[in-house]
Amino acid sequence: SVEMYGGGELDQLVEAFNAMSRQLADSRERAERAQQLLQQARDLLELRVAERTQDLMDVNERLLHEVAERARAEELLAQAARSDPLTGLMNRRAMLEHLEYQAARFQRNQVPFSLLLGDLDLFKSINDTFGHDAGDQALIQTTHFLVHGIRTQDLVARWGGEEFLILLPDTDLEGGLVVAEDLREGLAAQALRIGEETLRLTLSLGVAHYRADQTLNECIKAADAALYRAKIQGRNRVVAALHGLKGQAAAA
Ligand code: GH3
Ligand code: MG
Ligand code: MG
Repeated sequence: SVEMYGGGELDQLVEAFNAMSRQLADSRERAERAQQLLQQARDLLELRVAERTQDLMDVNERLLHEVAERARAEELLAQAARSDPLTGLMNRRAMLEHLEYQAARFQRNQVPFSLLLGDLDLFKSINDTFGHDAGDQALIQTTHFLVHGIRTQDLVARWGGEEFLILLPDTDLEGGLVVAEDLREGLAAQALRIGEETLRLTLSLGVAHYRADQTLNECIKAADAALYRAKIQGRNRVVAALHGLKGQAAAA
């Protein structure tokens, strides 16, 4: 701002100068104010973005957690569908998959395999004498015995109530008979401790090896027919399948 000295052009110039000066001061003030508002808006925006980012991270974490939970639940379900709850052994469905794999392998490379079908002898009398819970414990202990009695590559399944199917890969009929006899003898010699009771269980086994001219089902039936003969021959014994299902039928 400049002092005024009197009328005339100079005064007008001074007046115009002062008007510009005021405007300038005015607009600087507005600019500063606008700058402040802008800064406030930016701070607020940053705060909102930070909050939103945190929200998204939280949601993301929850989602990841849920996905993991779901995967775990699906795994448990799949496992439950393939295993027997009492003994923890694989069930018939899971064993069938292994058997099918072995049959396919045999067809490609002629790698032999055998199966043992074992059924506990007179198991009903265990339930009748000691109760159903004791029967369950006996099944669990039999499972331990079988699992520890086979090689790591062999597989055992709970095939039915007191029936077990044991798959022996890379094993011919002769080898299968040796394993079956060992298991039979071992179980018969073992005293099972069930609560206060000590009891003995025996197992009858039918043994079959997979043959090129058989379906898987016929092979299982051949083992079953051999098991049946083990039962009628007096139990606690091992019987080999006859050659082929037709042979079995003829013998039966
Ligand atoms: P065999 O020597 O002819 O095989 O006689 P068995 O008594 O073993 O045969 P049977 O088929 O007459 O009886 C089988 C018994 O197994 C009857 C059934 O209650 C029992 N069982 C099957 N599953 C279970 C189970 O999960 N728990 C218990 N405790 N018993 C079971
Ligand atoms: Mg039985
Ligand atoms: Mg049975």
